[in-house]
Amino acid sequence: MELWYSENHSDDVKFSLRVEEQLYTKQTEYQRIDVMTSKEFGTFLTLDGLMMVAEKDEFIYHEMIVHVPMSVNPNIKKVLVIGGGDGGTVKQLVRYDTVEAIDLVEIDRDVVEVCKKFLPTVSAGLNDERVNINYEDGLKFVRNTKDKYDLIIVDSTDPFGPGEGLFTREFYGNCYRTLSDDGIMVNQHESPYYENYANSLIRAHRRIKGVFPIHKIYQAHIPTYPSGHWLFGFASNKFDPIKDFNAERWNKLRLDTKYYNTELHMGCFALPNYVKELLDNA
Ligand code: SAM
Repeated sequence: MELWYSENHSDDVKFSLRVEEQLYTKQTEYQRIDVMTSKEFGTFLTLDGLMMVAEKDEFIYHEMIVHVPMSVNPNIKKVLVIGGGDGGTVKQLVRYDTVEAIDLVEIDRDVVEVCKKFLPTVSAGLNDERVNINYEDGLKFVRNTKDKYDLIIVDSTDPFGPGEGLFTREFYGNCYRTLSDDGIMVNQHESPYYENYANSLIRAHRRIKGVFPIHKIYQAHIPTYPSGHWLFGFASNKFDPIKDFNAERWNKLRLDTKYYNTELHMGCFALPNYVKELLDNA
């Protein structure tokens, strides 16, 4: 008998993946967690039936959410990651010796425990001594914190269930307040292709535009995410991701990456016309 994982990418489109084994399933206070293995994508984690991380293509998402801001400001020392309990974002951040402290705010402790157990290559960085994990709602955390960060990475689920608050104007306003004067916020910004995702993207873009003077969108190709075409937001008070980017400086760090490189950095901010139009209308 064959076992398949299927996820609706729109009401009329499904993405399916042959499953070798289901390793874990649990309904937590916040969401349903599943871990499965597959021949094509290795071990993967889903939350409420949506793909979060797959061993084979996680490097694309995590390299793009981390190296783009890190290459624009070499003086980033204190980082806040909201969500990201799988550890993939932290794994890329701890590669920088210049980073002194990483606060990870993850709502669901089970996600962290499960990823440590079943996705050790993704979650390894969580044991780094610079990492401090808070099990809390990111919306409440930024509402109350008095700390300042040089970089905030919003590595959240989609804007439904526990992730909903991480797409609100209140949340972005508090991120702005929590950043140092030259701070950067990067967020996972959904897909432009299918209507449902595009609507979330437009709403988020409109809100970020209302808060940050500099706001740009960049893209990557992530095979396991809806349509494979995924966007990220870059927002700041001071830094422009192209004008303030110094390729030579980043290349001198000699970080070995599988997706990100400095030519791609310049190219990923060039958007297709239909995406520009969506954003202009936001
Ligand atoms: N790469 C992923 C994607 O775009 O599909 C995101 C993965 S990461 C596992 C998302 C994490 O955000 C989940 O572990 C989830 O528990 C966490 N999360 C959702 N809402 C949150 C909230 N309000 N505060 C903190 N963490 C939250």
